[in-house]
Amino acid sequence: MDVAAILHQLGVPLTEYAGSDLAVCSPIDGSQIASLRCHTQAEVQASMAQAAEAFTAWRDVPAPQRGTLVRLFGEALRVLKEPLARLVTMECGKILEEARGEVQEMIDMCDFAVGLSRQLYGLTIASERPEHSMQETWLPLGPIGVITAFNFPVAVWSWNAALALVCGDPVVWKPSEKTPLTALACQAIFAQACRRYPQTTGHTLPEGLLHVLRGGAEVGDWVVTDTRLPLISATGSCRMGRIIAPKVAARLGRSLLELGGNNAVVVSDQANLSVALPAILFGAVGTCGQRCTTIRRVIAHVGIYDELLQRLKTAYHRIATQHIGNPLDAGTLVGPLIDQAAFEAMQKALDAARQQGGSVFFGERVSAAAYPQAYYVTPALVQIPTQVAIVCTETFAPILYVMPYTSLDEAIAIHNAVPQGLASAIFTTDLHEAEQFKRRSDCGIVNVNIGTSGAEIGGAFGGEKDTGGGREAGSDAWKTYMRRHTSTTYYGTTPPALAQGIKFEVE
Ligand code: NAD
Repeated sequence: MDVAAILHQLGVPLTEYAGSDLAVCSPIDGSQIASLRCHTQAEVQASMAQAAEAFTAWRDVPAPQRGTLVRLFGEALRVLKEPLARLVTMECGKILEEARGEVQEMIDMCDFAVGLSRQLYGLTIASERPEHSMQETWLPLGPIGVITAFNFPVAVWSWNAALALVCGDPVVWKPSEKTPLTALACQAIFAQACRRYPQTTGHTLPEGLLHVLRGGAEVGDWVVTDTRLPLISATGSCRMGRIIAPKVAARLGRSLLELGGNNAVVVSDQANLSVALPAILFGAVGTCGQRCTTIRRVIAHVGIYDELLQRLKTAYHRIATQHIGNPLDAGTLVGPLIDQAAFEAMQKALDAARQQGGSVFFGERVSAAAYPQAYYVTPALVQIPTQVAIVCTETFAPILYVMPYTSLDEAIAIHNAVPQGLASAIFTTDLHEAEQFKRRSDCGIVNVNIGTSGAEIGGAFGGEKDTGGGREAGSDAWKTYMRRHTSTTYYGTTPPALAQGIKFEVE
């Protein structure tokens, strides 16, 4: 694992960031791969000031030209996809195949944002008054604060940054303290794009369109409470959302929250199990259960419950014996948990599941001799008769609870009876069931015969209830990064009419 060589290839000047505040460890073997200095409050203040200054110039650059910068960034990402993906794997432990997918998602997001840069459409609205025209126009909002989680260390930032930049907004990014190196790599790649911009467009760029802040919750708090940032886009646990949302609200800022999930799939007796099974496996054990969209609950019809459980057990056994290991190796499907705390949280949840009536299969630590400082586990399968308390919490580890149901109404009631509302799915060949579920699932993402994880960037991504209500990436998510004004113009020559027919005539 030559992290230094990869950082060099990505253009990261690591020595500039070296210090003793933040030890960065690879979950692959627990070894320390860097030691960084965190930003001080004064430095964060200076970054904010520079971002605010950059905004005053960037907002006046025509949006399609702003799109050119994002296009150049996407081009640089294409060139550096492989080393960036390897760094993602080394720093957060997801398998290389998924890390490549994560970088591809960034590239796709850049393409999307470039197209969008020519489509920041407003409306022309019919006025109720003669000789009046009414328009709605979208304008840049200001520098955007972005806080991200460890498990998607680069893609989630790009969902925000690609949109923010074409919308005219600089970005101040506080990545997870567990994955700062990938963020520094994105900063270096973005700097490459910035260097190419003047040659490509003949225009100069303002300094400081992107700031990457090194540090933990304290640095995050300086971001959250800074009134120069009109929008805070925060991705992470519900716990974090509950702390920061009131702080942003207290200063009447805007927040975009992408928080925890507790995603379920309903498997009907009308399901094609050959379609359902691989989707459940990818959703439940992929990324070692560390996706916000990980399948954590299977609600299976009693008619197929035993068969599905048996097939899951067989597949879990195969995964446990053949596919757990170093995420850089081809053939590995499940890499390590992020750290010891994640392992302990998993074991605590499995103990709770046993106490609350569950039968636990697999879920043990493996490869401890080869990797004494790292935490590899066999994904756990829990057969549980009802949706007890532990099933209603998000444990960020590969634990799949399998519960029976008898009627679709009951399945949907079980499905919706958790605090989180991110992603959901039904497996069925019955159109009526599929449409009923699509209407009644309370999540932001509702799939049919597709698992809950692995969303495309074209759709708006996010969830309801404790997941926070935010939407990022595709569709009209860009509107959150802009402000809207409504403008009415009177072009007549006699005194204009008032709205609602009000008369106000001064003799
Ligand atoms: P976390 O909440 O521990 O940390 C997320 C980020 O918030 C980090 O950058 C952290 O430094 C920062 N932070 C924490 N406390 C803060 C505070 N008081 N003030 C300011 N910043 C603070 O989450 P994590 O362990 O990195 O990630 C896992 C969680 O993220 C899971 O719950 C997962 O479901 C969620 N997640 C959600 C989405 C989504 O799109 N909905 C995507 C990825 C991850």
